Amino acid sequence: MARYIFVAGGVMSGIGKGVAVASIGRILKSKGFKVTAVKIDPYINVDAGTMNPIEHGEIFVTEDGVECDQDIGNYERFLDENLTTDNYITTGRVYQAVINRERNLEYGGRCVEVVPDIPNEVISRIQKAARKTKADFVLIEIGGTVGEYQNLLFLEAARMMHLQRPKDILFILVSYLPIPEKIGEMKTKPTQTAVRLLNEAGIQPDIILGRSKVPLDEPRKRKISIFCNVDIKDVISAPDIESIYEIPINFEKENLGNRILEKFNLKSRKQNLKDWEKLVKIIKTAEKPVKIGMVGKYFETGKFTLMDSYISVIEAVKHAAWFFKKKPEINWLGAEKYEKNPKKLKELNKFDGIIVPGGFGSRGVEGKIKAIEFCRKQKIPFLGFCLGMQLAVVEFARNVCGFKKANSTEFISTKSGKVDPVIDVMPEQKALLKEKKYGGTMRLGAYKCELKRGTRSWKAYGKVKYVSERHRHRYELNNEFRSILERKGMMMAGINPERDLVEIIELKKHPFFLGVQFHPEYKSRPLKPHPLFREFIKSSLRLRNK
Ligand code: GLN
Repeated sequence: MARYIFVAGGVMSGIGKGVAVASIGRILKSKGFKVTAVKIDPYINVDAGTMNPIEHGEIFVTEDGVECDQDIGNYERFLDENLTTDNYITTGRVYQAVINRERNLEYGGRCVEVVPDIPNEVISRIQKAARKTKADFVLIEIGGTVGEYQNLLFLEAARMMHLQRPKDILFILVSYLPIPEKIGEMKTKPTQTAVRLLNEAGIQPDIILGRSKVPLDEPRKRKISIFCNVDIKDVISAPDIESIYEIPINFEKENLGNRILEKFNLKSRKQNLKDWEKLVKIIKTAEKPVKIGMVGKYFETGKFTLMDSYISVIEAVKHAAWFFKKKPEINWLGAEKYEKNPKKLKELNKFDGIIVPGGFGSRGVEGKIKAIEFCRKQKIPFLGFCLGMQLAVVEFARNVCGFKKANSTEFISTKSGKVDPVIDVMPEQKALLKEKKYGGTMRLGAYKCELKRGTRSWKAYGKVKYVSERHRHRYELNNEFRSILERKGMMMAGINPERDLVEIIELKKHPFFLGVQFHPEYKSRPLKPHPLFREFIKSSLRLRNK
């Protein structure tokens, strides 16, 4: 029977609750248990697909095509498991299901109420995830911070579940301990308040993870123990660290895994964090850098730079760099500056490789095309994902095939005049766009791709015939232009066999020029870097050595 561990956050958001959950999952898995993790997002959006990455960070996509929170990506990377729609709950999804059921008369004519019907729906979803995955442990991350209005019903679900089966439920609070500069001392009061708020919701945490700049010392642990009503051994120090992959190891130093097992009266079945420890050692000791430039646009928010919008791409670059025992250095390059000032393109020469990731909308597109042209001509290793691949096709069509007005129909307006739509909207998408059916309607999730023998991709993937990768797009390479592109030297290295869609393009006379219609970044794992990232980094290192 599954055990459930609810994780809530205290004091403030953005303190790494998702990675804490992922790390606990990794630890329990390393002790021989089957683990899954559920993310609860309190917003009304049914899924993350309709959100701007600048608002919400990366949109992660699962095998079964759910557009979800980036934490699902963290869970997949740490657990090394594929998650599904069952692992993701939003307020929107919960209410939508309850309302649909009500409309179908499934409540037998009774009055449907926020409590208990909404928490009950949440509980049944959590239990479904347990059933489907046959997990020994289900970790449930409750988004937001305790004390806010939005996640109350989820805390209520957790409380109700605890009432039903107290022995199978554990509560963990991830809290923050500030060290105000002027005072110079770590303060526990906000955490005490957070626990009180949790108590108000009828929940007493069993374990408190104290996030802070530095490790928690004995007096701080004692204070939290007394005032928050937890055993001092259950106050876990979680200081800032350089790499998130170190967290499971730090938690284990604090004996977190065994404390959890003890509370459930369980014993470790094995102990195996060895591979993970090896990886962390590489992360900490790798010195020689590999310098990768990312040409994108979801970087800036006010005066701050966001990294979250491309988190899976960044992590995938890191995984591949560590595979070669190199230190990944990733630089953000705003695409728009190349439109305004093409002279700036020269800075691309400073990098060992350039990535153009996915994106939507016309802002920055021409800058990205210029950057791709530069990479093609200067023979800088280039890797493009989704929009990055589409723009590589546009660039090639314009500058090699002579279609001066080539573009994607995504960026063609009524004012554009006659243009060559080398990237075109997929036929079934046209109707959806017309009816404004935007949510969850793109070509999403895993699709098959047949690799062309002898290509770089085929070799990278280990010379197999088929691979499967995850997608999120509405537009595709227009097959009418395929033969002319091929004649001019663009190879169609991967094709979706069912629909005859181009999935991978490569250029022959180039050290590494590869574009994919899918998002390989979603499938990269710290101990199993994605083959395309691995080959890209390999070529980038070769360039560096020259
Ligand atoms: N906007 C493009 C499309 O819809 C690319 C999407 C992406 O990069 N994920 O096809």
